[in-house]
Amino acid sequence: MSRKEKLYMMQSAYNVLSTVFGYGEFRPPQDQVIESVLNGDDVFVLMPTGGGKSLCYQIPALVRPGVGIVISPLIALMQDQVSALTQAGVRAACMNSAMGSDHNYQVEQQALRGELDVVYIAPERLALQRTLDWLGQCTLSLFAIDEAHCVSQWGHDFRSDYLQLSVLQQTFPQVPRIALTATADAKTREEIIQRLGLQQAKVFVSGFDRPNIQYRITQKDNPKKQLLSFLEAEHSGHAGVVYCLSRKKVEATALWLSEQGINALPYHAGLDKSVRQSNQERFLREEGIVMVATIAFGMGIDKPDVRFVAHLDLPKSIEAYYQETGRAGRDGDPATAWMAYGLEDVIKLKQMMAGSDADESFKRIEQQKLNGMLGLAELTTCRRQTLMGYFGDTLSQPCGNCDNCLTPVKTWDGTDAARKALSCVFRTDQRFGVGHLVNVLRGKVTDKITQFNHHTVSTFGIGKDLSDGQWKSVFRQLVARGYLNVNFDYGQLSLSETSRSILRGEESLMLRVDTMQTKSSMGGGSKKSKSVDINENDIPLWEALRACRTSLASEQGIPPFMIFHDATLKDMLDNKPSTLEGFGTISGVGQKKLDKYGSDFLEVLKQY
Ligand code: ADP
Ligand code: ZN
Repeated sequence: MSRKEKLYMMQSAYNVLSTVFGYGEFRPPQDQVIESVLNGDDVFVLMPTGGGKSLCYQIPALVRPGVGIVISPLIALMQDQVSALTQAGVRAACMNSAMGSDHNYQVEQQALRGELDVVYIAPERLALQRTLDWLGQCTLSLFAIDEAHCVSQWGHDFRSDYLQLSVLQQTFPQVPRIALTATADAKTREEIIQRLGLQQAKVFVSGFDRPNIQYRITQKDNPKKQLLSFLEAEHSGHAGVVYCLSRKKVEATALWLSEQGINALPYHAGLDKSVRQSNQERFLREEGIVMVATIAFGMGIDKPDVRFVAHLDLPKSIEAYYQETGRAGRDGDPATAWMAYGLEDVIKLKQMMAGSDADESFKRIEQQKLNGMLGLAELTTCRRQTLMGYFGDTLSQPCGNCDNCLTPVKTWDGTDAARKALSCVFRTDQRFGVGHLVNVLRGKVTDKITQFNHHTVSTFGIGKDLSDGQWKSVFRQLVARGYLNVNFDYGQLSLSETSRSILRGEESLMLRVDTMQTKSSMGGGSKKSKSVDINENDIPLWEALRACRTSLASEQGIPPFMIFHDATLKDMLDNKPSTLEGFGTISGVGQKKLDKYGSDFLEVLKQY
C-alpha cells in the first residue's frame, strides 16, 4: 500500500467516526489501532471496559472493502449490538444458533452480495466446514475476536469453542485479525497470544484505570438503610446494580427497596427463565431500574449508563470486585462503586472457604485472593492506587476520587486493644465467636459467661474503655489482617502464627477508625441527577429530552441508550442547538440519527 493510500484510508476513518458515529475525535489508542488494522496488520488490544474497543474494529470494517466478521461469545448480546449499529446506519447482522437457519442463510447470502459491513458470529460456527466455505467466498475486511480472554484456560471465562479460532489464521492468512479484551492479567495475555497465533501482532495496552468511577467502601452499620440513603442522596432515578451473595438476600433486598419507592427488580439463577429475561429487558429498556442481583447477572451486560454498582456483600477477590464494579459508567460519565462491608462478611467468606471441599492448593489461592480483597477493604490510603498496583499498573499520585482520598481515614494506635483481644481469645480456649468475646472484654455477665465461668478469666472486663462497636471493629481488622483464624463450623476465632508478635509486644498495630457513612459525605449534595451534573434550571429540559428519547425507543422496542447516550443529551443541554445543522455537531449524532431524530429533539429544545 502506498503512503497516499494509507493517508486516504485514515481520512476515511475520521470521516466515518464523525458521519456515522457522530464523534469528534478518537480516544487514544483507537486511532493507532485503526491505522494498524487498515494497514493489514494483526492487532491485540487490551483496554478497560468502556475504553471504546468496539470502534477499533467497526471503523476498519467500514473503511476496508468487504465484510468484517466479529466473533463474540455473548450470543444474547449480538442482536443488541446489531440494533445499535443499525441505528447508526451501519449494515450489520448476526448469526448464531438462536437465530434459526433461515435467518442465518439470509445473512450468508447478503454478505456474499456485499450488502453487509459487519457480521457477528458465535465461535462454534467456525467448526463447521460450511462456515469456512462461505467465508472463503466472501470478501473479508477483517476478523475481530471479541472477549479474546475466552481462549485462555487460566482466565475465568474459558470457552473451548475459542480454541478453534486458530483456524482463521491458517485458512485466511491475508485477512487482518484484531483480538480484544479487558482482562489485564499478564498470564492470560501470554496465553491469548500463543493460542491465537498473534506473535506478530501489534499490541496496544491502555491503562486499566477507570477514572470516572468513584470507589467507596464503608463499614456496615445498617446496610439496607445505608444503601437507601446512598441511593436517595446520589442516585435517585439512576440505573444501577446491587450485588448480594445469596438468592434469598437478593429477593429480600429487592422487595425492601421497592417498598421504599425504589424501582428495584431481582435477578438470580434460581428465578424462572422468563422472569429473569423480562427483568433484564426492563433493566435495559426502562430508565432508572435498580437490579438487585447475584453475580449471575453481569457477564455481557452492555448497558452504558449504569450509574452505580453497590455491593452488600464482599466479593471473593479483587479481580471479581474490579470486574463487577467495572460495569458502572461505561459511557465515561461519573459513576459510583459503593460497598458496605463488615465483620460478618469476613467471617462468612472465611468460613465458606474453609468449609469447601476444594483441594488444598486451590483453597490456598482462594484464601490469598480473599486476603487481597480484605486488604483493599481495610485500606487507609488511596484505593485506586492499590487497585492499579494489583493489576501491575502504577498511579503515581493518589486519585482524589475514592473515599480515602476524599475523606482521609483516621487511624489510632490499636496495639494495646489488639493484645487484649488476642489474649481474650487465648484465655477462653479459642472456642468462641466475636459476640461472646466482646462480652467477656466488656465484663458483661451473660448466661453463657456464667456457664463457662468466663467471669473468672483474667481478661474479663479489661475492655470497658471501648464500646461494643469499637471492639467489633478491632476484631474485624485482626481477622482481615490474618492475626485471627475463623473456624468454619461456628465462626470461632483462634490465634494465628502471626498473632504471637503482637501478644509479646514485639509489633505495634495502627487500626482504622471506622466511620459509617449513612448520609453521604462524598462529592456533595443531594442534587438530583448529580452524576451527569445538570444545572438546576436545565432539569425540566433534561427530563423532556429523556422523555423524547424513551418514547422514540419504545416505538422501536429498543433501549433508550441506543437512540442517544446520556452524554449526547448532555451535549444538547450545553449547546442548545436550534437548527439541524447545529444538531449535527452534537457529540454522538451521526448522519443517520440526525435525519431520523433531529427534528424530534429540536422540537423539544425549542419548547424550552
Ligand atoms: P468497550 O467495548 O471497550 O467496553 P465500547 O466500545 O462499548 O467500550 O465504548 C464505550 C463507550 O464509549 C460507548 O458509549 C462508545 O459510544 C463511547 N466511545 C467510544 N469511542 C468514542 C470516541 N472516540 N468518542 C466518544 N465516545 C466514544
Ligand atoms: Zn484515591
